[in-house]
Amino acid sequence: MPASPCSSIIHDQMRVSLPTLGNQPPPASNQQRLAGDLRDSHGRVITDLRLSVTDRCNFRCVYCLEPGTRFLPRQELLYKEEYLQVIQACMNLGVRTLRLTGGEPTLYPELDELIEETGKLGLDDMAMTTNGWSLNKDRASRWHDTGLQRLTFSLDSLREDRMAAITRSKTSVSQVLDAIKTARDAGFPRPKVNVVMMRDINDDEAVDFARAARSHDLDIRFIEFMPLDSARDWDKNQVVTADETRRAIEAVWPLQKEDGGNPSSTSCNWGFADGGSGRIGFIAPVSRPFCGACNRLRITAEGRIRPCLFSHDEWDLKPLLRRGLPLKDIQSFIIDAAWNKQPGHQIGQDDFQQPARSMSAIGG
Ligand code: SAM
Ligand code: SF4
Repeated sequence: MPASPCSSIIHDQMRVSLPTLGNQPPPASNQQRLAGDLRDSHGRVITDLRLSVTDRCNFRCVYCLEPGTRFLPRQELLYKEEYLQVIQACMNLGVRTLRLTGGEPTLYPELDELIEETGKLGLDDMAMTTNGWSLNKDRASRWHDTGLQRLTFSLDSLREDRMAAITRSKTSVSQVLDAIKTARDAGFPRPKVNVVMMRDINDDEAVDFARAARSHDLDIRFIEFMPLDSARDWDKNQVVTADETRRAIEAVWPLQKEDGGNPSSTSCNWGFADGGSGRIGFIAPVSRPFCGACNRLRITAEGRIRPCLFSHDEWDLKPLLRRGLPLKDIQSFIIDAAWNKQPGHQIGQDDFQQPARSMSAIGG
């Protein structure tokens, strides 16, 4: 549909109301600005927000964060009220689901209050990804009672020596397993457990994790290692593909694909063919990119919009927030940023360029 003369007037007014703020995204089409939802120029509708609330972490996972990495000063990060504004602006544009992440989100000092206040906004789903180190009964219950609906844990090995070597932390496997149990007892549904599979590091544990899924009724998600490590030594030979992991599990327990579900889901999910408890999921951004169905937008802890994990462009919302601009201007900026989402990534291809920032700084 061609843009009407009226739409271009509104478009110009929208543009004029924004002060010059440095890196502004190229404007979305007039038609898109009038539509009032979030859509990119490739036709994908954005309904899911990944919001990082800190770039800090107490782990130094080998696939993510190098020892010695410097974190942003506190004043560079958004304040709770600013996160709430961003969430509200995205919701006004059709975002229905939110995942809080980081860095390690439980290190964000106002996390409990943020969850509580976000819980009142009426999202369809609020989830959080954590390494599990700081979960206790009171906190888990508080999160659950104030609107957090789902928790995902990260656990890359069931062996204590490997856990220490991978995370370069003092948190033990049993602490994370206890945290998962605590989350369950607090009322969270079957927790998901993310496992990044890496060649010669933990690739012999697929069956052990499947056994844990069955015995503890867990939803284990095997993730392919992506070139988002701060060490920048990702190599495709270190990637263990979803197919390889699935074959290892199926040699012991055949799996049955679950049909239907959310087409934008990053994970392809399977149950055990013998009806055993638990579920297995595969997230295969390297061997089977799912960019065509992507409905996500990411915002970093300091308020930069990254339309894609692999974006090289970031659009800085913080100046607008700090100048106290009205929500309609924030929304207008988000519409433009989303419009500029790239069609996909080229991991593994010759022209692929790793983004400057690691997963922990972007928000996984
Ligand atoms: N600190 C929290 C945690 O680890 O659960 C949340 C943030 S972390 C960046 C989010 C997810 O990204 C984790 O499940 C982690 O395993 C995953 N991740 C980090 N770096 C990755 C990489 N290079 N490739 C694939 N997944 C990665
Ligand atoms: Fe921290 Fe999570 Fe990255 Fe591990 S994956 S270093 S826990 S942010």
